[in-house]
Amino acid sequence: MKYDKNNIFAKILRGEIPCNKVYENEYVLSFYDINPKKKIHILVIPKGEYIDLDHFNATASEKEIIEFTKSITHITKMLKISSNENGYRVLTNIGKDGGQEVPHLHHHIFGGEAVGKMVV
Ligand code: 5GP
Repeated sequence: MKYDKNNIFAKILRGEIPCNKVYENEYVLSFYDINPKKKIHILVIPKGEYIDLDHFNATASEKEIIEFTKSITHITKMLKISSNENGYRVLTNIGKDGGQEVPHLHHHIFGGEAVGKMVV
């Protein structure tokens, strides 16, 4: 599968569509989900063109992989939902059965309240 440069998150990265930004550095962008499922529902995406987690792990640099993972802890600390506070959930949908709608890798972060059952 080829990366679709016109997916919605690619447009957000290019600044063609606005987002409610939480955090940004050289490697990642994080913003609030447009249709929040919990009190806090944000997305974290790598800046590179990666379709999903498998594509990312197969082709991204070690630095990109480390920075993407570490950004979760940085962002949850910023939002005061880290393991030092009440905690949060990270979820990543991959492919058809995983329910992935946007073909640019993203982690969902849910928190700010009890997020409930793992899978419904
Ligand atoms: P997926 O099902 O691919 O894991 O999740 C895609 C997520 O992107 C959904 O939770 C959806 O609400 C969110 N989303 C889709 N379009 C936009 C958008 O234009 N802006 C923002 N901030 N979120 C979006």
